[in-house]
Amino acid sequence: MSILNKSILITGSSDGIDKSLAIEFSKFGANIILLGRNSKKLDEVYDLLDHSHVSQKHIIIEADLALLSNEAAQEILIAISQEFEVLDGIIHNAAILGTMSSLEDYDLSSWDEVMKVNLRAPFILTKTLKVMLESALQPRLIFTSSGVAKKGRSFWGAYSVSKFGVKGLAEIFKDELETTTNIKVFNFDPGATRTSMRAYAYPAEDPSSLKGASSLLNYYLWFFSRESENIDIRYIKYNIPSS
Ligand code: NDP
Repeated sequence: MSILNKSILITGSSDGIDKSLAIEFSKFGANIILLGRNSKKLDEVYDLLDHSHVSQKHIIIEADLALLSNEAAQEILIAISQEFEVLDGIIHNAAILGTMSSLEDYDLSSWDEVMKVNLRAPFILTKTLKVMLESALQPRLIFTSSGVAKKGRSFWGAYSVSKFGVKGLAEIFKDELETTTNIKVFNFDPGATRTSMRAYAYPAEDPSSLKGASSLLNYYLWFFSRESENIDIRYIKYNIPSS
């Protein structure tokens, strides 16, 4: 399955891994639905998208996922359905790191915000947009995991707990949707990648020692390919090439 003419919602596409993905996917002819909270950054990404394919179009949805309600998600559904007949994929990538501190010292408002952006928003968005995904031929639902979703680690607090939650969310959606719809669900850990989130989490790390976001492209293309159709993988981790 090519992503030519596929309509794909990418949350958090104003920066980092998803910004790169939005730009690369547009070169393959996908229609990109950018979603983020910063309109200036979204406009800048929009200008970097490829528009050269026939009937290709991209839209921007400005939404603060920390504030997402059922009503706001319905508005997103309406905005997308006015532009596209079906939704071929959602890549839930937007996330925040929150505070790096012990649980004992963890600030409650930071905890709540992390949970809202990282866990609550993908839940609300998925259940609201499911109706448009179901209409697509081979729809894909991709959640974003992390190494701290497999084993809790000190000082990763709400971020780690939220990613454990995303793992559960992805597995439950997988069990509920893959038997009753044609939606295929993945939970993907991109591994250490050079972004501002990574730099914030590891300030002493040399960014040039990390892979760039564009090296993840083939993974995301694979998720949308026919080869991924019959594979039952619940957690996929980026493998750093040995070269
Ligand atoms: P970045 O911080 O670079 O990008 C995160 C994106 O999410 C930004 O576009 C940001 O918008 C957006 N975002 C944050 N809060 C909100 C909000 N309230 N509403 C809407 N959008 C919001 O992170 P990465 O690209 O590094 O991370 C992407 C994903 O990959 C995350 O899910 C992360 O957990 C995961 N991951 C990353 C790894 C890494 O090494 N980079 C490793 C393992 C997992 P804004 O531009 O406005 O800040």
